[in-house]
Amino acid sequence: MNQSLRFQVFKRDNFRCQYCGKESGEVILEVDHVTPKSRGGSDNIGNLITACRECNRGKSNVEIIPSNTDIYAIEFRKLCLDGNRLSDQIRDLEKQLKQLYSKYRENRIQQHASLIKSTQYDIDTITESRLRTDYPDSTWKDLNEFKITNYKFIGYLQNEILQEESKNEVNVTFNLDKPKKSYFDGVEHL
Ligand SMILES: [Zn+2]
Repeated sequence: MNQSLRFQVFKRDNFRCQYCGKESGEVILEVDHVTPKSRGGSDNIGNLITACRECNRGKSNVEIIPSNTDIYAIEFRKLCLDGNRLSDQIRDLEKQLKQLYSKYRENRIQQHASLIKSTQYDIDTITESRLRTDYPDSTWKDLNEFKITNYKFIGYLQNEILQEESKNEVNVTFNLDKPKKSYFDGVEHL
C-alpha cells in the first residue's frame, strides 16, 4: 500500500485507532482492512481503517472479522468523521463567504467615496458654459439646479455608505446540525 493512501486513511481517522481509540504517539498506527484481504477485501479507502499495532495484531493473529457490533461501531465512527470533515469544510466556506462579502462592502464604500469626490468636484467647477458643453442632453435649467441635484446625489451616496458601515458582519451560516465530537463517546463501548 502506498504512503499517500496510508496517510489518507490516518488523516480521515484523525490519527486514532478506530478500534481502541488510542492516538498516534501512544501507539503505533497501521492500516487495517475492514474486510480482510483474505476474504476478498479491497485496498479501496472505504475498506481501510486506522488500527493500532496491538488491535491489528490481535485481530490478524486469530483471524477474526469484526463482529457485527464492531462493524457498526466502525461505520458509525467513519460517518462521524465524514460529518466532522464536512462541517470543517462548511466552516471554511462560511469564512470565505464572510471575507468575500466584507471585501465587496469595502469596495462598494470606496466606489461611493470616489463618486462623492468627483461629484463634489463637478459641483465646485461647474460653469454655465460647461453645463451646456459637458451635459448637452441634460434638462437642468441653471447652475443652481445642477448643484441641487448633485448634492442630492452626494446625500444619497453618503447614506449608502452609512448603511454599509452600520451593517454588522454578514451572518453566513448554513442551516445544518453540526456533528459533535462527543458522538464518538457513545460508540467507544459498543
Ligand atoms: Zn487499538
